[in-house]
Amino acid sequence: MKYLFFILFLFILSFNILSANESSSSINYYDITVRVSPLYESLQIEALMDITSQEDKLEISLGKNFKGTEVRDIKVYSRSEELKYTFNDNIINLYVKDKKIDKLLITYRICPVKEQQDAYSTFAFNISEQDCRINAAITRTDNWFPKIKNISSKRLPPFTLSVDVPSHFEVMASGRLDYISEHKGRKIYRWKNYENITDRSLYFFACKCKKVERSYPDNFSVKLYVPHNSIDKNIDYVADVIYKSYKYFEENFGETGLMEYKAMAIDSGVTGGYSGLLNSMTFGKEYFTKNIENNAILFPSRNIVHEVSHTWWGNIVSADASTDYWLFEGFAKFSEIIALKRVFDSDVEMESFRRLKMVYMNYYGYDQPLASHIDERDLQVAVAYFKGAMILKTLEFIMGEEAFFKGMKEYVRSFRGKIATTDDFEHVMQKFSDLDLSNFFKGYIDGKGCGEYTMSVMDSRKKGQEWLTGIKIENRGDKDIYTLIEVKTYLEDYTKKVFIAKGSSLFLDVRNTEPSTNQNIIVDPENIYPVCEAGVRGAGGYVYFTPEGECKFTGILENGPVAQSGIKNSMILLEIDGVKSSKMDMVKLNSLFVRPAGSKMKLTVKDGKDIKEIEFVY
Ligand SMILES: [Zn+2]
Repeated sequence: MKYLFFILFLFILSFNILSANESSSSINYYDITVRVSPLYESLQIEALMDITSQEDKLEISLGKNFKGTEVRDIKVYSRSEELKYTFNDNIINLYVKDKKIDKLLITYRICPVKEQQDAYSTFAFNISEQDCRINAAITRTDNWFPKIKNISSKRLPPFTLSVDVPSHFEVMASGRLDYISEHKGRKIYRWKNYENITDRSLYFFACKCKKVERSYPDNFSVKLYVPHNSIDKNIDYVADVIYKSYKYFEENFGETGLMEYKAMAIDSGVTGGYSGLLNSMTFGKEYFTKNIENNAILFPSRNIVHEVSHTWWGNIVSADASTDYWLFEGFAKFSEIIALKRVFDSDVEMESFRRLKMVYMNYYGYDQPLASHIDERDLQVAVAYFKGAMILKTLEFIMGEEAFFKGMKEYVRSFRGKIATTDDFEHVMQKFSDLDLSNFFKGYIDGKGCGEYTMSVMDSRKKGQEWLTGIKIENRGDKDIYTLIEVKTYLEDYTKKVFIAKGSSLFLDVRNTEPSTNQNIIVDPENIYPVCEAGVRGAGGYVYFTPEGECKFTGILENGPVAQSGIKNSMILLEIDGVKSSKMDMVKLNSLFVRPAGSKMKLTVKDGKDIKEIEFVY
């Protein structure tokens, strides 16, 4: 009984904590109509809501941080009575007399504002004769419709979303297409949420295009909105990539219960046009108007696979992007890579993981914890996307493939239609692992960096015809090390899984026909796990080969060694320490930029027409 009382007490306590931060009011249903104004100068919105409220004060957030837009002409009604309100800092403050309000109608306009634009503004919001959109893949557009303040942790309730556009537009939006009506040169597309799940947020894309459909034997249908001058075989190709990816992810992460996928081609802009939403995506129009030429590791088509995976990562299971961005992007990057073989019948998985480590390591020393907010975009990609995917690969390595994928399926099942955190993910995965995963999560997700080691030769002694050499691999970092090591001598050739706890060392006796050296042992031979030699740092940027074969710098951070030596993005690397860059494999070349702090580097670079020799210390 005492125990029960204690639980009750805890429950009351947690309830109080909750109510101190969160509003007890909630929106139970949205019926929203968006009308693209005939002169394309604003979106006119009527948002009707079923609401539960026990307070005499309601705070409704609208349009906050939605850069490039402004909310104007707000009116608020409750059962046809117009209500007084104030609107400050994107919050509508309402006073409700008898605390009883069950239906609320808010009408307003969203207008484009040039001064507040940034690189992503057009991707997030656009209004023109060719193209109108509110893109919910950009999280800051989440509040284009009214929300009760401080209930950001809740998912979207059931909805009807009607989009009223001039007849020349096709519309793709959240949910399933329920109905289209046409009247006097306008069309209204009405969308409703899927039967058993809502999208993470409301969105719509409207553009001049044609809608085509590809159906598959299991009745799954891919609906594509593509340019009028599309090449037919490209339509088939893209539909197949979407279908194969979707089926692969359903097998590995669980079925969605949905039988369709929607995709719209839009102007690609700075982002390449990619958005991954619940059961739909956008990508650039070039997929349909030009021949698709994939590079050696299947870009650009593998970006489609990535976006399809966002059905699971960020939509079926959502997360707070400001802290757990890796739950969207690390998961999508990992999924993109493991699906490549099935979708394209081409084995570039290991090379893809190697490139993630290659890029991440070049930010080594400047990185931040996975579960944190990172402003700098290049660093955010290296950490949330690339290290995030490496962490999942490592977790699979630790748990074993079968247990890992059981855990992933259970994570999706238990957080379907909810908001998950990194702790939630850890909790689910732990249920499927015999090993205690808490140090791994603490070290690699809450903490920054990799496992760090030093390797040293202890002694060599002759035993009959053989030499036995003692090798010590010491964990010098602040986290446990999980990796493979490869031993290669004249007498031995094997790879083994190793675990070196924080503060401890691994001792190996290596057999050989001569005394062995460090060269006979390779830590992380595949070069894909988060482990490195103690004391190294990255260049704060990396190089890649353009289709023309030039070796260009990219992703340069302000405070990294290459930036401080005067190197800028898109300068061309000709030589590194006297060796021609054009002769090298991309992963090898970039690994030369990861070296002990304090060491020297000599580069020959081309800046426009000038060729410069640059020497600097890391
Ligand atoms: Zn993504």
